[in-house]
Amino acid sequence: MDPLLSYAQRRLGDIVALIRRFVECESPSDTPDAVNRFVELVSDTVAPFAKVKTVKGGRFGKQLMVEPSLPGKRKQGQILALGHSDTVWSMGTLKTMPFRQADGRLWGPGVLDMKSGIAFFLFAVQTLRELEIPAASKVLLQVNSDEEVGSEASRPLTEKNAKASKAVLVLEPGTGLTGKLKTARKGVGDFTVTVRGRASHAGVDFTAGASAVVELARQIDHIATFTHLDRGITVNPGVISGGTRSNVVAAEATAEVDIRVLRLKDAPGLEKKFKSLKPFDRRCTIEVTGGLNRPPMERSAGIVKLFRTAQALARDLGVDAEESLTGGGSDGNFTAALGVPTLDGLGAVGEGAHAANESILVDRIADRTALIAKLIAAL
Ligand SMILES: [Zn+2]
Repeated sequence: MDPLLSYAQRRLGDIVALIRRFVECESPSDTPDAVNRFVELVSDTVAPFAKVKTVKGGRFGKQLMVEPSLPGKRKQGQILALGHSDTVWSMGTLKTMPFRQADGRLWGPGVLDMKSGIAFFLFAVQTLRELEIPAASKVLLQVNSDEEVGSEASRPLTEKNAKASKAVLVLEPGTGLTGKLKTARKGVGDFTVTVRGRASHAGVDFTAGASAVVELARQIDHIATFTHLDRGITVNPGVISGGTRSNVVAAEATAEVDIRVLRLKDAPGLEKKFKSLKPFDRRCTIEVTGGLNRPPMERSAGIVKLFRTAQALARDLGVDAEESLTGGGSDGNFTAALGVPTLDGLGAVGEGAHAANESILVDRIADRTALIAKLIAAL
């Protein structure tokens, strides 16, 4: 058997124990103190074998950078591993969704997205150290505190570290229960469309009013036509609000619209369509704000090459690694958009991210950990 895989299998109990400690340290994006406690837990865990640095995250928790000391004398260039400390789960979720091991899985808030990925990376580092396998490059792990809420605070740091790296390995979960690696992600954006009309009494003075609700409804019907499934463009008016009472002609109404694009070149055209919305009822006005906030991770030649490398290494572990495209964004979108080869989905194999059935497969922990170790050694 592959020596890295057999090492990871021997340490399986320790890896599960670390994942448990990570999951039981709750860290929702909007509670910086809790995120900082998790950052401290990771820092303490790596203290014996890594240099640690934190960077202030503004209204979010701290960003964490870990530089492990790895075997190998002549290191050339840098590899960036990316993860995030924050989860979508509020403080106290553990009471109703405690960490547990059952049915061949580990369950709990953030176990898949993505505390296991961080644990895998730390054990990948220990694998290389214990087996004295040299790493060809310096390796830096960056753990962001605001990924689940758009990465506004961490983005500059991610981009700075990516620019200094020859490849980026993203520790987000793989796709589906086979854990496909991610070689493409859609770009993500949002628009807020606000219609202002004229209020009036719905009974006494109906014709004096210009309904913002009716106008918005017509706009949404039009906005829905911006979707082009064949080009990978989706437009989702997900939230609408407006009006005050049923007997008042509504003065204001708002829609929040999520957009996804497969190719960056489709974004300007879509933005233009939003910015040039015209009212059907000339007495109404339309204000549009927003735009693309994560560029797409496009499947470049560099990404394909990185995937092929991972695929060959996985084969040594007895795993048939496949690739996938996802509509969801990650911090890998930013690094790929800079032209730095980025491979995503290297974290846990499981299902139910952001959902009550969030869980990972125990029998895929060792091969994932070994794959990350092999990639670090090879790149
Ligand atoms: Zn995630």
